[in-house]
Amino acid sequence: IAITHESKIFVTGHRGMVGSALVRRLQRAGYKNIVTRTRAELDLLNQQAVHAFLAEQLPDYIFIAAAKVGGIQANNIYRADFLYQNLLIEANLIHGAHLADVQRMMFLGSSCIYPRDCQQPIKEEYLLTGPLELTNEPYAIAKIAGIKLAESYNVQYGREYVSAMPTNLYGPNDNYDLSNSHVLPALIRKTHEAKVRGDNELVVWGTGSPKREFLYVDDLADACVYLMERGYAGSLLNVGTGVDVTIRELAETVMRVVGFSGHIVFDASKPDGTPRKLMDVAKLTALGWRAAVPLEAGIQRAYDDFLSGQRPQA
Ligand code: GDP
Repeated sequence: IAITHESKIFVTGHRGMVGSALVRRLQRAGYKNIVTRTRAELDLLNQQAVHAFLAEQLPDYIFIAAAKVGGIQANNIYRADFLYQNLLIEANLIHGAHLADVQRMMFLGSSCIYPRDCQQPIKEEYLLTGPLELTNEPYAIAKIAGIKLAESYNVQYGREYVSAMPTNLYGPNDNYDLSNSHVLPALIRKTHEAKVRGDNELVVWGTGSPKREFLYVDDLADACVYLMERGYAGSLLNVGTGVDVTIRELAETVMRVVGFSGHIVFDASKPDGTPRKLMDVAKLTALGWRAAVPLEAGIQRAYDDFLSGQRPQA
């Protein structure tokens, strides 16, 4: 089956950072039959509702960008919610898609599915070779279950369900909440507010030495559509830039973009999490795709987006 501009493409989680980037990317490419539903219209935790919706809509392709997500602290505190809700969302959608005879689907996860003390850079085959980072173990277990569920439909039923594992993402529609967000949106907001207040200190969690890799969300969306259009023979694929920075370097870059010249104070009472998680993107690169947006340029775009959300609503 070839994807065309008339293909019916269901994007779940279209109000989130990843789902909205997918919709932007698909629209820009000329796709005309994109299906979305808000949470009020379709509760993805409700198996009956999801299965009935898929049976009625019969989409040709599905992107599973809907998930319960958050930063290190949210993952660590709302452990039951992260495990339960993500298991239900993916089980309802993946099994429902199979029942509705959806042949090709993409499931989104994150690099935290890999073992905490994983060899770097992380290859796809390192999945399930060691213990997970404890702060986000429930989320990771849910996502690993989703990967294995999708893969099992490929093995048992010949489906083409691909799990794409992006590295840390950022960009428009990110969550800028200070306690529950990821590090980059949190630093953008904290640095901006420190500048506005005229502070000379920026508080950064942990020690600043963990290393993280960051991908602009429009690059992720581009990779996902690229893979959906061409098809991919495997079940699991990393999506990243292949480059990482320390949290200290990240904070310094954000300070440059925001134009804040104070100094960094590390709050060691907050967890560092995994020491490093750099993706090996050799498989994706071999398929002819690479990331286009460099980190500092991406942070500039994200900061512009943050500022546009700061303006008073008309
Ligand atoms: P992780 O990649 O799953 O560990 O999640 P995060 O993006 O939340 O955190 C990444 C790293 O950034 C961790 O070492 C955090 O301690 C560190 N960090 C520094 N300042 C902040 C902050 O303000 N918010 C968050 N979420 N993390 C921060």
